[in-house]
Amino acid sequence: MKLILLGAPGAGKGTQAEIISETYKIPTVSTGNIIRAALENGTEMGLKAKAYTEKGELVPDDVVIGIIKERLSEDDCKNGFILDGFPRTIPQAKALDDMNISVDAALSIEVADSEIVKRMSGRRVCEKCGASYHTEFKKPLKEGVCNSCGGRLVIRKDDEPETVLNRLKVFHEQTEPLKDFYKAKEKLLLVEGQDDVKDTTALVLKALSEL
Ligand code: AMP
Repeated sequence: MKLILLGAPGAGKGTQAEIISETYKIPTVSTGNIIRAALENGTEMGLKAKAYTEKGELVPDDVVIGIIKERLSEDDCKNGFILDGFPRTIPQAKALDDMNISVDAALSIEVADSEIVKRMSGRRVCEKCGASYHTEFKKPLKEGVCNSCGGRLVIRKDDEPETVLNRLKVFHEQTEPLKDFYKAKEKLLLVEGQDDVKDTTALVLKALSEL
């Protein structure tokens, strides 16, 4: 299966991607994760991306398209993949078409902005291993400390409230038009994000099983 996950930042794409990946035995390709790893490793691409991600802006299309081309040419993507966080603009979606990649579906997880702001303000990540937590929905065993490695839990720079509002604005302006793009191709699936992640997962897996 070749699947695109659409949805605002914080809509829960990453969590759903993990479950779909286990269920269908296909890798998740997250441009956000690839970019964060490049930032941490201080690569040239990471340096190019830094200023954009910190402000909640999109990294230029040519950079992310390059990342995706390279990643999708790897062996583990042969039998399918889940794209989490790509495409995020119409030119990026057209680049997939130009690569002759035809997806089975673009699944959009619908969550209201007010709910997103609430969720993102509680998000914490381990500064050492990157594991993610939430002050309300996924508490660590000990407050402020990572369960797996004991690292300190911090707010990701792009989860700061001001940046979140900018990421939402960018989402509505640049990414949401992709829903019409995939609707026109009859590939769009809409799933309403639920309060309980498990309920969203059930809807997502049902929608995919009906493809
Ligand atoms: P994410 O974790 O998917 O929200 O991505 C974190 C940040 O990486 C975004 O706020 C963007 O700055 C950048 N990024 C990730 N994917 C893309 C993309 N497809 N196009 C442009 N920028 C991206």
